[in-house]
Formats: sequence, structure tokens, C-alpha cells
Amino acid sequence: MDRPSVIRKTAHDLRVTPNLVDYEGERRMFTWAGARAALAGLPDGGLNIGFEAVDRHARGPRQARTALRFLARDTAPRDISYAELAALTSRFANVLQGLGFAPGDRMFVLAGRIPELHIGLLGALKAGVVVTPLFSAFGPEPIATRINLGRGQVLLTTDALYRRKLRDWRERMPSLRHVLLVAEQGGPTDEPGTLDLAGLMAQAGESFTVAATRPQDPALLHFTSGTTGTPKGAIHVHEAVVTHHATGRYALDLHDTDRYWCTADPGWVTGTSYGIIAPLLHGVTSLVDREEFDADRWYELLAQEQVSVWYTAPTAIRMLMKAGTALAQARRYPALRFVASVGEPLNPEAVHWGREALGLPIHDNWWQTETGGIMIANTPAFDIRPGSMGRPLPGIDAAIVEHLEADGEPPRIRLIEAPGVDGELALRAGWPSMFRGYLDNEARYRRCFADGWYLTGDLARRDADGYYWFVGRTDDVIKSAGHLIGPFEVESVLMEHPAVAEAGVIGKPDPVVGEVVKAFVSLKAGHEPAEALRMDILAHARRRLGAAVAPKEIAFLQVLPRTRSGKIMRRLLKARELGLPEGDTSTLEAGA
Ligand code: AMP
Repeated sequence: MDRPSVIRKTAHDLRVTPNLVDYEGERRMFTWAGARAALAGLPDGGLNIGFEAVDRHARGPRQARTALRFLARDTAPRDISYAELAALTSRFANVLQGLGFAPGDRMFVLAGRIPELHIGLLGALKAGVVVTPLFSAFGPEPIATRINLGRGQVLLTTDALYRRKLRDWRERMPSLRHVLLVAEQGGPTDEPGTLDLAGLMAQAGESFTVAATRPQDPALLHFTSGTTGTPKGAIHVHEAVVTHHATGRYALDLHDTDRYWCTADPGWVTGTSYGIIAPLLHGVTSLVDREEFDADRWYELLAQEQVSVWYTAPTAIRMLMKAGTALAQARRYPALRFVASVGEPLNPEAVHWGREALGLPIHDNWWQTETGGIMIANTPAFDIRPGSMGRPLPGIDAAIVEHLEADGEPPRIRLIEAPGVDGELALRAGWPSMFRGYLDNEARYRRCFADGWYLTGDLARRDADGYYWFVGRTDDVIKSAGHLIGPFEVESVLMEHPAVAEAGVIGKPDPVVGEVVKAFVSLKAGHEPAEALRMDILAHARRRLGAAVAPKEIAFLQVLPRTRSGKIMRRLLKARELGLPEGDTSTLEAGA
């Protein structure tokens, strides 16, 4: 069926006047100083994300409003009002202070979508403690790698996750001074070397003076993956809250009375910036569902919980599409008025499907760990071009650039003015949620900037009307079900298997999750390719990396293609896997 290339807004879409109506006008008028003025701030120019998200609402008209509504299959919903959230996060901040933690110290969080995760993260921010959320589906290896790189001093997790993943690894994380356990398996927990969080919270006071953090003080450390080397810790500061607030307004169209649901896991940046912080900044009610994806349950939640703004991801949308439009149409969603998606390319088909199944088109938007917040978006203020990521938000200047030398350092670039040309997507540096460094890697950070532009590592194109279209990545990182996976981290674990000589890992296109992780391995002398060995290597990878990161497929090769300098040519592995032209192989080692 021919689909229109533009989706126009209907009166139904715009039945609540959007925050952003005049895109060009707002861009002209917008200043970050003005955006900052919408927040309260602390005395003497201080700024604290936890204060803005929670305490600011705790005494005003929103105090009795539900801030967070936690849903799970077998238990009754748990509602936490803004006033309660202020008290609970203060208790948590007191717990940290009582244990001797001070502003600038580092806490890691490894938990499913439970209240203690939100309370811990926001409480730590109020205490000035820098927080790193970890994905709870990570295996012990990625968890320990990140805690060690970040020199985490305190870990907040659950007894179940600790026993399953970390107890045997504790010795390998020497920087950890305390582990705070949420008792899920019937408390209190008596795990040696840990503290029972519930007991500490019960003893802690409910009043806490928010740490006098400055706008440029670190607040969050988010790990992200590159092509080579260990994961990179992107440092974000308290000033990021200005972007979280402004983008919640423009790209998610949050209004005071919204009931909002973000399906992203809080172990990743979307789940933190837009699952926890942005909705609270706007004083709305935010739903948090503990359960994993289930099409029927999701539709039921959208309908029954009267969700009005929904922020989800392309993989989830494709899984819903697979479950059939009829399932969606079996219910009505009169409260729903805005749907957005992020994290991977959103197929044009999915944007149209939104209209058919939910009565609303899906608004794709773009950002990444380093940008801290949404940069480019389809907003209520203009028509959607299905397949496009939208246009830069007020306060954000984007450009398509070309590198003048292959590996110039510092990079030398030229802005491509003409529309319709592929190049690297760049953003003019200086928005408040821009990362302020890669932990312990200043050189890598500097390489991300040229002539005042931040280079995103994504390839894109701009059309004549200023819409941006995603083309691909400039590097080999893999996006699987919206999660960014570094091939190097997977290869390193595969090579620890006694039979594996070398490993090369690629993202293999998949119609539902975008890409699946596929590994190619060659074997050490004395080992023969066999199904049992393949299963053993897969099991080893799953145990160490967790199911979300481990390869789904492993193929044996005699030798892996390498450059003459010894680097595995993942690009070539991918081209061969997909039956594509091999491109420039002039640096290929003979015989590969
Ligand atoms: P992460 O840092 O894990 O959030 O991943 C960011 C990367 O995800 C970006 O650099 C893009 O490659 C990809 N990405 C995010 N949003 C989109 C989108 N709307 N369309 C296409 N790719 C996206």
C-alpha cells in the first residue's frame, strides 16, 4: 500500500494545545538562561537535579499528587506522592551521609524497576553523590568492569541480583566500601559484607538539606560503548537538568496533569533522563512497570492507567506490530495524546501503524548518552515525515559535516550546507546536558569536538526543510533492542574461553531488535568446530556478559580477516555475512 510521505496533525492529535506551536518562532526566542529560569535553583546560583525533580514540588500544590506509580503483575500498585518522595529520598540521602559518603563520591545502582532504584538515585543526587545506573540484565563481567572503571564506592542493589551476579565477584571490586541491599527474597538480608537498606532507611531522618551542588558539579556517570577498548564513562553535571526540563516540554509535550509512561530501563540513559528525571521535573504522574514486555499487558496499562504521554522504543513498537493490530484495537485509549520513540531507527511503517493501532502517529526523536537529552525530534509543532528523526529542538543547532582528513587530530571538518548529502551529524557544543568528559580519557573526549561542534559518530542527512534522517554509524558499535553494545567487550570475554583463539563481533540486521550480536571465532590448536563447543562458548558468554549482551549466534572460521597491523576487520566480516561488496581490502592481511 502506498503510504503518504507526510503525516499531518489532526484536531484529535492537537486537542490539548501543545507546548511548542511555533517551531521557528520558539527557536528564535529561546535561550538556555530563560530555560534555566523555569527551575528553582539553590541559593547562590547552586543547582541540584534531585532538588528540582522532587523537593521543589514537595511543599506546593503538587505535594499530594502521585509522583511515581509502581506496577507489577502480582502485587497492588504502589503510589508515592511528591511529599512522600521528598521524605524517602531525604532518608536515603541521610543513609549515605551516615555511612560517610560526601558530595563527589560515587554510587552505582543495579536493580530492576523498583521504588528503591528511584529513591536511591534521587536521594544520592540530593546528597551530591554521583550516580551510575547499571542495566540489571548485565552479567557480572560488564558490571564489575564499570564499577572498577568508575571506582564505585557504594552499590545499591537487591539481594537476588547480588547473590546471582556479584557475591562471587565482590573481591574483584576493591573500591566498593558498602553494598546496600534491597530485600526482595524476604528480608532483612543477612548477606555478609552488605547492609540491609530497609533497616537503615527506617532509622534515618526525613529531613535533609540538599547538598550545595554547583551547576557544573558531576551528577551522573553513564557508561556507553565504543568500538575499541573498555566502556567510556560519560560525565554529566547538575546543569543537565535544564535540558531535561526543556526537552520534556518540547519533545514529550509534558503538561501538568499528564500520566506519563516511559518504557526504557533505568539502567540506560533514556530510563534515567526521561524515565526518572524529566517527568518529575514537570510534576506529572509517572508510571513504572516492573514486568518485561508483554503486548497485551502494555495495551491494558495504556488503557487502564489512562496514560496520556507515552515514550517507548522502536524494538518495542515492532514487537507490538508483530502481535497484530487487532490486539491494540481491542481497547480504546481516549487519554492517550502523544507517543514518542527513541533509540534506533523507527521504520516509516511503524509511524503509520501508530495512527492505525493507537489513533496517534509516533514521534521519533534522536539523542545519545553523550548528549544527555533529546536533541532532534518530531514535535507537535510540525508534520511528521515518517522515517525522519525530526528537527533540532529550540536551543540546539545541528549540522551535517564532512571530515577533511581520515584521522586528523584534532579533527578538521567542513559543514555541508547543501541538503540531501550524507555526512556526520554534529551539534554546536554548549547545551546544558552535554557530557563534560569521558572518565579518565581526556584525549578521547577532545577527539569528539572540532571547531566548536560535537561530532556524534552518527551518519545522517538533512533535507531541504531541515528534517534529519538517520543513515548509520561511523563505527562498529551494535544496537540491539535499543541497547548499545561494544564489540570489543564481547570479543574480550569470548577470548577468555579456553578453546577460542580470536574473536570478531558484528551486529547482524534483525527485523525486530534492529541488530543481533553475532560472533565469529577461530579456535586454538587441538580444538575442532563442533556443536557442543559452540554451545559451550555461548553459555560461557551468557554467564559472563548476561543475555542482553552475549552473542546470539557464533560461527567458526579458520582465520579471521585482519589488517596487516593486526586489527580484526569487523567491517569485512559484516560484508561477507550480508553478501555485500567487500569494499577496500588493501590493508587486509594475506590469506584472510
Ligand atoms: P545510546 O548512547 O545508547 O543512547 O545510543 C545512541 C545511539 O543510538 C545514537 O548515536 C544512534 O546511533 C542511535 N539512535 C538513537 N536514537 C535514534 C533514532 N531516533 N534513530 C536512529 N538511531 C538512533
